[in-house]
Amino acid sequence: MATSKVIGKLLKFKGFKAVDLAFKRGNELHIAVKPFKNGCECSQCGRRGKIVRTRPEVRRWRDIPVGGWTVWFLYAPREIQCPTHGRVEERLPWADPYARMTYRYEYVMLRYCQMMTQKAGAGLLCISASTLSDQLHRCIKRIRSGHRIRGLKTIGIDEISYCQGHKYATLVYDLDRSVVLWVGDGKGRKTIDTFFDTLLSDYQKQQITAGCCDMSDAYIGAITTHCPNAALVLDRFHIVKALNGAVDEVRKAQWRKANVNDRKALKGLRWLLYRHSSTRSRKDTRTLKALDKGNRRIYRAWCLKDEFERFWNFNARWAAERFLKGWMTAVRRSRLEPMKKFVGMVQRHYDGILVFIDTGLTNAVAEGLNRVVKIVKNRASGFRTVDAFADMIYLTAGDVDIPAHIPSKFRTV
Ligand SMILES: [Zn+2]
Repeated sequence: MATSKVIGKLLKFKGFKAVDLAFKRGNELHIAVKPFKNGCECSQCGRRGKIVRTRPEVRRWRDIPVGGWTVWFLYAPREIQCPTHGRVEERLPWADPYARMTYRYEYVMLRYCQMMTQKAGAGLLCISASTLSDQLHRCIKRIRSGHRIRGLKTIGIDEISYCQGHKYATLVYDLDRSVVLWVGDGKGRKTIDTFFDTLLSDYQKQQITAGCCDMSDAYIGAITTHCPNAALVLDRFHIVKALNGAVDEVRKAQWRKANVNDRKALKGLRWLLYRHSSTRSRKDTRTLKALDKGNRRIYRAWCLKDEFERFWNFNARWAAERFLKGWMTAVRRSRLEPMKKFVGMVQRHYDGILVFIDTGLTNAVAEGLNRVVKIVKNRASGFRTVDAFADMIYLTAGDVDIPAHIPSKFRTV
């Protein structure tokens, strides 16, 4: 069997063939290739046309490395005269018209990046991490370009930090399909407006029936202005988080006041106070109940927090409303300032919180997605640019299955 045929079998050439091979210095394998049967098709419509000229410069495409050798495809594309598109470059079966790497390389790169850090993937592909980041960005941008959002009914908006808590990105979710639709830089009104203005038509905005977000004015404002038919639901997770924050404030204030002996009793309370009653052990409950004698203020704050858990279980709005009103009065009488502040927040977003009882909608799906996003983020120990962060989110939790867009015969490793 001729060497080129062996290599051809090894690299699974399909639709094109190798004509020459050369091992170069620096562990490079240069393979001169040419389109096999369909030599001169238009790259846009696939129709055959007359060859006008062969480009003088030889282009090269990166393929997956084999046995430590970096593999390059070499070919000088020809220009053809297409009846519809005029003078265009011929279609190349191994790569996208403007790509500098083969489909197979792109597929492997995408799959690696889904599974591991870009740094680890770059090591396996024998390139530098920054090159991989560039290649990944171009590839994802190309595949996602022209993609339209479809059938969006329930929208979720949340923010996430991507660089050690300094920089924020806004994520927009489709809560029915539990995918990330969009990643934007920043967390303000301007960012979220960009999403609504550029990606959704007026009709699509009217089709949205519910929107879920945290208590930030930017997101609430955006949902109410852009989606006229959407019920605004404040995310349960964020409300509970705010309440836990208030309880913790009470604890901290008591801690500051306490002397050395009292502090002993307050140790290890922080995470205990956060716990939901269903995940608490009997011992934990006993410790918390002992606070009744130890520290009245923390005890009261904890009791109020525990009682609030009942709110989420109501089925009827009137019952939930009655409970909430009673609870708010109890807090106002408690003389616990952070808790009162929380009640003030509840009062401001009263309707948004009660809508939960009617719809049962939360960003919980989104929180699940957020976990995926956080894994990606922590794995890479943060991202320097929002683009790199967005690429990884689109790849792991996005609404487009990106590797599936590579032609099937090149989806091999
Ligand atoms: Zn054409």
